[in-house]
Amino acid sequence: MIVALHVATGAAAGAASGSRRAAVLLGPILHLAGDRLPHQDIRSRRFEIGSGLAGVLLLTARRGPLDPATLGAVASSAPDLEHVLPFLRPGGRKLFHDRLGWHHSGRFPAALQLLLAGAILVALSGPRRRAG
Ligand SMILES: [Zn+2]
Repeated sequence: MIVALHVATGAAAGAASGSRRAAVLLGPILHLAGDRLPHQDIRSRRFEIGSGLAGVLLLTARRGPLDPATLGAVASSAPDLEHVLPFLRPGGRKLFHDRLGWHHSGRFPAALQLLLAGAILVALSGPRRRAG
């Protein structure tokens, strides 16, 4: 699944849980679930990193770095760091993408994933509703 949608689904789960701990624990599980869906990927690593970072920065700016949504976004997208950081691949094998082996290619279009990610992030970055 594209990084931006990992960011968005993690943020949504974090916001829904309202708990920092739940957000951080749910993130990697959501990542695995997302990669398990048969999906298209975006080949440009630069685009993947850029759009993921943009999502995290937007959440940080609108909700703060320690908001459950922001933490969930980081926790859910972090497993993709093993694609770019060699020290996360001891023995040359990726934990989330080789050992657990849940990455499935398929029909979920990258453009639709991007659209969904944008919609979720915009919804989470709007004016906060006040309680009561
Ligand atoms: Zn992944």
